[in-house]
Order: sequence, then C-alpha cells, then structure tokens
Amino acid sequence: STVPSIVLNDGNVIPQLGFGVFQVPAEDVFSVVTTALEVGYRSIDTAAIYGNEEGTGRAIREYGLPRDEIYVTTKLWNSDQGYDSTLRAFDASMQRLGLDYLDLYLIHWPVAVADRFVDTFRAFQALKSQGRVRSIGVSNFTVAHIQRLIAETGEIPVVNQIELHPSLAQRELREFHAANAIATEAWSPLGQGTLLDDATIAQVAAEVGRTPAQVIIRWHLQLGNVVIPKSVTPSRIAENFDVFGFELTAEQMDAINGLDSGSRIGGDPDTLT
Ligand code: NAD
Repeated sequence: STVPSIVLNDGNVIPQLGFGVFQVPAEDVFSVVTTALEVGYRSIDTAAIYGNEEGTGRAIREYGLPRDEIYVTTKLWNSDQGYDSTLRAFDASMQRLGLDYLDLYLIHWPVAVADRFVDTFRAFQALKSQGRVRSIGVSNFTVAHIQRLIAETGEIPVVNQIELHPSLAQRELREFHAANAIATEAWSPLGQGTLLDDATIAQVAAEVGRTPAQVIIRWHLQLGNVVIPKSVTPSRIAENFDVFGFELTAEQMDAINGLDSGSRIGGDPDTLT
C-alpha cells in the first residue's frame, strides 16, 4: 500500500491515513466503510457513542481481508469509565463489531471531574495483557491528564487523538507527544469542512493542482500526524485517499501553519463530561 505506517511506542504500527465514521448513520455505515475499503483505506476509526460499530464491523468482516490487514479503532464512552464498567463496555463493543481482537482502544474523553480515567486505563492494561486489544491510548487528553496517567499506571498511551486542523494546530501537545513517544492522531482534520474554502488553503491548492481537502490532509501527513478524515460521498472518500502523489513545500507548510488561531470546533478537554 501507499500509506506510510507510524510505529507506536509498544512496537505495533498504525496506518498514517485512516477513515473516520463519526456522524455516519448506522444504516449507511456498511456501504460507506465498504467504499472506503474498496478505495484502499486499511484503518477505520469508530466509537461506541457513534452508534455504528455494528455496521462498521460487518463491513470489515464481509470485505474479507485477513484480519491483520485492517486496523480497527474504537473508543470507550465517558459514562462507561471505571474498571469493571470498562471491561463490560469493551465486551459490548467487541460483540457489536464482531471481531475477536481490537487494534486500538481509546478513552474517548478524560472527564477529569469524575476522576475515573486512571482506573479505566488499568482495565485497558488488563485487556491488553489478555491479548484482546493490541494497543491502548487516549483521546482529548491534555498534557496534565497524560502526565497523571503515566505517573499512576507506569504506561504511556500509544496515541492521543485530539482535535487538530489548521485553525487548531496544537503545537504544544504535539511537542509533548513527540518528547514522550506518543503518536498524535488528528480528529476533525478538515475542521469538519469549515477550512475548505479558506483563501490560503485555496491558494496552495491552486499552486499544487490539488483540492483543498487534499492539501489539508497532506499538511497533516507532513507534520507526522495520524489523520482520519470522514466523508460519506464516494468521490470524496477517494479524493481524500489520493494524497501520496504530491508534496507541499516548506513555504506552503508555513502558510498553512499561519492559520492557527487556537479555535476549537468540538468540546473542551478540561470540561466535557
Ligand atoms: P472532518 O474534519 O473529517 O470533516 C468531515 C466533513 O468534511 C464531511 O462531513 C464533509 O462535510 C467534509 N468533507 C470531507 N471530505 C471532503 C472533500 N474531499 N471535499 C469537500 N468536503 C469534504 O470531520 P470529522 O468527521 O469530525 O472528523 C474525522 C473523524 O475523526 C471522525 O469521523 C471520527 O472518526 C474522529 N473524531 C473523533 C473525535 C474524538 O473526540 N475522539 C471527535 C470528532 C471526530
């Protein structure tokens, strides 16, 4: 495949470009994921809260690739945090997915006010030692949350999946991740579409003869991010995967870096419950 791999701190590898299914309706997800697999994506990102694990798993199984040629991520929802409830929620997700192991399990949000993410991660460690999940990580964690997790469990999450796009470039977290061998995975990498008519992006797109979405995905890849764009439109699913035949220059990267305004689309990791 043309997609580079990122080596995680536990020795496993994740494709740098995957496909996200947030807000894909349960009744559509089978055909959408099948299209993504046909286009060549080999990594699929879902979550219990998306309500579409069943169709996602069925598409993966029926596509018929050897299990080890596809990378599957799901996430533990906030209300399921806690040691025993995490083990139960994992079983329920795996039942819906219809898979016998998971590649990557993420704590969806820290929910620090509930103070259960450390126990939750201890349950993740147990699932990993049982071989039911290959790699364990977090999502929407701040530097302080990760430092506490490492101090109390002795384990460094392989990935922190965070909101990251040209308007929220997350320089501080990316530097912290790099210093701690944590891969940065970008959610809402296209700013949920809001960045696609930005003038700077349009200028770069014209220069390289590519679409705005392709330019933004290329920016992520060149930063070293794992990136999981979403679309339900077959032509866009294909367009977003066709990003390995060109490169952005240092000047083009800098122009896009200049769009960082620190603006979030999604929830605040310090307060979302
Ligand atoms: P995204 O940034 O991937 O944007 C998707 C939207 O952009 C589409 O709905 C469509 O409107 C538009 N789009 C996509 N490709 C396009 C193209 N080629 N041309 C024109 N428009 C295009 O947004 P997202 O879905 O929020 O994020 C991607 C994935 O990240 C999700 O599906 C999910 O897997 C993950 N995610 C995780 C969290 C988390 O808390 N961990 C939160 C949000 C999303």
